[in-house]
Amino acid sequence: MSTPQPRATIADIPPYVAGRPPTVRPGMTSYKLSSNENPYPPLPGVVEAVQAAVGQMNRYPDMGASALYAALADSLDVPVEDLSVATGSVGLIYQLVQAFCDPGDEVVFAWRSFEAYPIAVTAAGAASVRVPVLPDGRHDLDAMAAAITDRTRIVLVCTPNNPTGPAVTQAELDAFLARVPSHVVVVVDEAYVEFVRMDDPVDGLASYRSRANVVLTRTFSKAYGLAGFRVGYAVAPAPIAAALRAVSLPFGVSTVAQVAAIASLERQPELLERVDALVAERTRVVDGLRAAGWDVPDAQGNFVWFGLGERTADFAQAADELGIVVRPFAGEGARVSIGETEANDRLLQLAASFPR
Ligand code: PMP
Repeated sequence: MSTPQPRATIADIPPYVAGRPPTVRPGMTSYKLSSNENPYPPLPGVVEAVQAAVGQMNRYPDMGASALYAALADSLDVPVEDLSVATGSVGLIYQLVQAFCDPGDEVVFAWRSFEAYPIAVTAAGAASVRVPVLPDGRHDLDAMAAAITDRTRIVLVCTPNNPTGPAVTQAELDAFLARVPSHVVVVVDEAYVEFVRMDDPVDGLASYRSRANVVLTRTFSKAYGLAGFRVGYAVAPAPIAAALRAVSLPFGVSTVAQVAAIASLERQPELLERVDALVAERTRVVDGLRAAGWDVPDAQGNFVWFGLGERTADFAQAADELGIVVRPFAGEGARVSIGETEANDRLLQLAASFPR
């Protein structure tokens, strides 16, 4: 007897390996450094705003999220028509592929990069073209431009790159954009943009303003510390933003998520101070690792990459024993989020004892 069969490509979808929660051990606090989360909880004013909205949760959210769109347009100084709000910025990756790719079309991205990219691409029946990152973890933008074919519909530029850490410069992005045909969508995934501290950083908004094919994706999950609420947004030329809204999940951003995002935008200066504190911790960790002989790549996000190869599992195990949970990528390396001071201290302790 025949049974219902999903599309053949569904079997090819790679798994999404979510960061593990902390291990529970009696007498020991364990820290989760496996999902690039913000260690600070939402600000009290954000929690109060959310609590006030919980009483309306018998109602559907405002599907047009009009207050959130208005707040974002105001904060970014862009027209509302150029925005698309979504269920996390991962939702936007799915929407981009759905809106621009027919089966067999190609999406070019660096690898290793954000693991949801090939999942979203394969789910839509499109093809992933993975361009290896350079040995120092940076995008190989020359090779990415060379990988564009007649079937390419989207190029994803993840800056800073998750999980390796480095970010692209504006000069590099400009040189790259000049090589991309104008009908190909260039997505600049700026999930960690608020953590960037470097010379000539990408000015994503300027790039979107000067090109008809540039889309920025951003999130409230990282710098704004709202990962559990699932809110992201794209800034894109109006026709692209309209296509993204057209394929969005109806009511995909809940009332409490909309309220939390708006309340956080109202408290941006305070939240960005926390980002400064996390960046200071990142500097402390990276300096400490390098002083201990570790050759870690430039870290422009809220995480550090250890290219450990076959020793990755041992490193993750040793971390676990010290009460920190990291994100191992089997056979490649481990990504460790910048977390609480104590958690970062334990990472430095681990790095001092684990063979380089
Ligand atoms: N882009 C990158 C590069 C990420 O690392 C992540 C989260 N790990 C996302 C997008 C998605 O974040 P969210 O869906 O929480 O907005």
